[in-house]
Amino acid sequence: MAKTFCIANQKGGVGKTTTAVNLAAGLVAQRQRVLLVDLDPQGNATMGSGIDKSTIKSGVYHVLIGIASASEAIQFASESGYSVLPANRELAGAEVELVDLEGREARLKNALNEVADQYDFILIDCPPALSLLTLNGLCAANGVVVPMQCEYFALEGLSDLVNTIKQVHANLNPDLKIIGLLRVMFDTRVTLQQQVSEQLNTHFGDKVFKTIIPRNVRLAEAPSFGLPGVIFDKSSRGAQAYIEFAGEMVQRIKTM
Ligand code: ATP
Ligand code: MG
Repeated sequence: MAKTFCIANQKGGVGKTTTAVNLAAGLVAQRQRVLLVDLDPQGNATMGSGIDKSTIKSGVYHVLIGIASASEAIQFASESGYSVLPANRELAGAEVELVDLEGREARLKNALNEVADQYDFILIDCPPALSLLTLNGLCAANGVVVPMQCEYFALEGLSDLVNTIKQVHANLNPDLKIIGLLRVMFDTRVTLQQQVSEQLNTHFGDKVFKTIIPRNVRLAEAPSFGLPGVIFDKSSRGAQAYIEFAGEMVQRIKTM
């Protein structure tokens, strides 16, 4: 039975998708069977895994509104090495359509139940909002991985996310917990980043992953080739960091 994790942060452009695709590829390198769910209408995780979002017949939208099953919509991203439940712009409509549907927060969870025994890990790339889509992700997950940049406002945004996770834990999904905070796009030369990083360690202790993802241009270049950085340039510093992070995730869930 798969363990399911949301990659979430309501802030935009903090490295959620980069983390989702590279963690997926890093876990594959550790012989894990991985499904990546793209829960963002931008479809970046879909494209970044090598699946053209304009060619999708069924995706997570169809699964959420109940006109396709997960197994019908899932595609194997052969170069990346994992399966993808893809998304495109159509998914934006789900936000409105879900409101009137029964069990609107639990629709992704129910759909994924059907395929959960085929994977070791299911990763969900969330959109940059605390929306009904993200809520579906949080309801379906055992835990949340929060990528964050070590900047001044990062901590402020974190409290909204932590409160949402607490509410989902209390009302919808007693399983849910924060697995860890992942420092991304890190530049050791920037004093402020080091200070915020220390603050994170002080406030959140062992909830902060040991691995730090550096700012690395190879990670940013990889999506235009439809590949995770870990596959595109395995020897780059960014790829190596995500491979190390995948190892840390595997260890961490052993103790869950
Ligand atoms: P959104 O909120 O729009 O979904 P996101 O949180 O998923 O964004 P990404 O798309 O992963 O963020 O990253 C934002 C930008 O930063 C992208 O251009 C990505 O290539 C780049 N980026 C992410 N991580 C790194 C890194 N470690 N080093 C350099 N560039 C990075
Ligand atoms: Mg994204």
